[in-house]
Amino acid sequence: MTIQVIIAGFKGKMGQAAYKMVVEDPNLELVGLLDPFTEETELAGVPVFKHKEDLAQLSADVWVDFTTPKVAYENTRFALENGFAPVVGTTGFTSEEITELTALSAEKGLGGLIAPNFAIGAILLMQFATQAAKYFPNVEIIELHHDQKKDAPSGTAIKTAELMSQVRTSQSQGLADEEELIEGARGADFDGMRIHSVRLPGLVAHQEVIFGSQGEGLTLRHDSYDRTSFMTGVNLAIKEVVKRDQLVYGLEHLL
Ligand code: NAP
Repeated sequence: MTIQVIIAGFKGKMGQAAYKMVVEDPNLELVGLLDPFTEETELAGVPVFKHKEDLAQLSADVWVDFTTPKVAYENTRFALENGFAPVVGTTGFTSEEITELTALSAEKGLGGLIAPNFAIGAILLMQFATQAAKYFPNVEIIELHHDQKKDAPSGTAIKTAELMSQVRTSQSQGLADEEELIEGARGADFDGMRIHSVRLPGLVAHQEVIFGSQGEGLTLRHDSYDRTSFMTGVNLAIKEVVKRDQLVYGLEHLL
């Protein structure tokens, strides 16, 4: 049986990669596309919509979302309310929004996924970092992305910090009376762990987690060199969420 898929944000960098992946998979059927700024009404026989409300009439199983942090919450809510299992890669959700959407999915009996990173290597990096944080509580994150990224720090960096904080002894790092000579020099503060965001043309998505201890250091690094790195995870998620009855946060919960 084929799984019917909608893609929101199909003209974006991730949306284009998702479009290609879905049309090339014989087990998936693309049934609708959403882009509020387009003039097209169809693409290779697939209807294109400007307003998400018009997608409610479609018969579809899964809503893939690679849009912008501003609209992703409303889109995910809309998907759940209309019986589409969301597979959301858009970043920028607050933990309250994730809790709320998880509860809504359970109420509707629909599976779903919000994943700050669909690359398998990035999932492993988060798991290794969580293991290490137990023994190395002094840690900083450097995330590096292309310069068109709208949110900072990245969803992956926040999720990595959240996971580490569950096992790490909470502490602030650096001197208590350290002084920033330029505001922001020490990065964002998550439970004492510092997160630094680099934005440069040419980059895709990269992250380093650097641990320091007496006389030793440990550096973990993951690189997504191009957007195909995320598509194995998106494909897997589409096929898994239709079997589930509650939304989860993080691809590791579907592996
Ligand atoms: P992008 O190239 O800017 O694509 C976003 C697309 O969404 C644009 O085409 C944009 O149109 C469109 N859009 C804006 N508002 C919309 C709405 N209301 N409904 C539908 N589409 C709308 O960005 P990207 O690099 O593809 O990234 C998209 C999101 O995925 C970001 O949040 C990014 O952080 C995240 N991301 C996640 C992963 C992961 O593995 N989870 C990996 C990479 C990126 P306009 O350009 O005309 O505004």
